[in-house]
Amino acid sequence: MITSAVRTLATELTGDDLPAYVYDLPALRTHARAVRDALPPGLELYYAAKANPAPPVLRTLAPHVTGYEVASGGEVEHVRAAVPGAPLAFGGPGKTEGELRRALTLGVERFHVESEQELRLLAGAAKDAGLDAVDVLLRVNVPLASDELGGAALAMGGRPSPFGLDPEAVQRCLPLLSGAGSRGPLRLRGIHAHLASGLDAPAQLTVAAAIADWARKLSERHGLDELTEVNVGGGMGVDYAHPDRRFDWAAYGKGMADLALRHPGRTLRIEPGRALTVYCGWYVTEVLDIKHSGGEAFAVLRGGTHHIRTPATKQHDQPFQVLPMDTTATWTRPWARPAVRKEPVTLVGQLCTPKDVLARRVRVPELRAGDRVAFAMAGAYAWNISHHDFLMHPRPGFHYLDT
Ligand SMILES: *Cc1c(COP(=O)(O)O)cnc(C)c1O
Repeated sequence: MITSAVRTLATELTGDDLPAYVYDLPALRTHARAVRDALPPGLELYYAAKANPAPPVLRTLAPHVTGYEVASGGEVEHVRAAVPGAPLAFGGPGKTEGELRRALTLGVERFHVESEQELRLLAGAAKDAGLDAVDVLLRVNVPLASDELGGAALAMGGRPSPFGLDPEAVQRCLPLLSGAGSRGPLRLRGIHAHLASGLDAPAQLTVAAAIADWARKLSERHGLDELTEVNVGGGMGVDYAHPDRRFDWAAYGKGMADLALRHPGRTLRIEPGRALTVYCGWYVTEVLDIKHSGGEAFAVLRGGTHHIRTPATKQHDQPFQVLPMDTTATWTRPWARPAVRKEPVTLVGQLCTPKDVLARRVRVPELRAGDRVAFAMAGAYAWNISHHDFLMHPRPGFHYLDT
């Protein structure tokens, strides 16, 4: 449900102020606090900045997270500047030598290493910088038995993947790390895995247990006393078809507390992105036109998927709420206000491509030119994954509500 602060702004903005992204920071704060409170105190919560790196979002999360997971040199610089002093974990494939050197200069706390070459590049950069204890987590494609998730689809991990290291490659990395018999500038502090996304709490717990068990076996087999951290990744599911059905953080927190008891002396860490910030953002716009074609109704909205690519990427209907605008007094055009009633309508944007669809054949009681539409769940992987410059329409406004 739309919050009253968002609704008020969404109806007060004038047409030329639209589209607009409206972020409800108090709602984000409440949600982040509830997530943190549901987790066991020893579990570390990092926010995956790529989900939404807007500085007000990063800063609102700061009191509720342990740190931030960053996945490029750009994110390292950006997050360092937005939340100075917050611990960073630098992951992501294809880190360049320049990015690694810069990250060392900026004192990045953890490196999630994705390949053997990357490990060698990091070791060289650390040596050149005169550092002797750079903390590394190896990102591993921990094998999962296919029945372990009860049929849930795995997006990553346990299958051929450009991300992370296969178990055999981990063996080859060990001699390059101190704590594993040799002495070098890199310390093996832990194992990182991000195997799947969109999982519910029971499936996430199964994955977390498999990763923690794998890390324990590796550490026991090779006497890796400094391997005390297990980062089990993000990917907590959100349901775009049912915005009110949220990830069960309470059940997940209980399960992670049990897992921690089975792994004494190890720090467990998670790094969700989407499930933290998706609910706080709204993409608000207005209906420009209503038309029929081939017997179907279309509502053409100001803006489109160049601002919110999420429904095109995920092939879903972006959830929304209609905010009816009474323009009877202000409708000055000498023709009837275009409208559609009690029939399915497809919500499209202003782009000259059939892919510019925000929601398909959805039922609304009524939709008229001039009505506002507030798309929900636009707080993650929305603006920042969109191809803004396609067709050169104006950019949306950005409003960070904080009262
Ligand atoms: C994208 C990503 C995350 C966050 O995933 P969400 O689905 O947004 O929770 C966490 N870790 C890694 C390595 C990622 O690539």
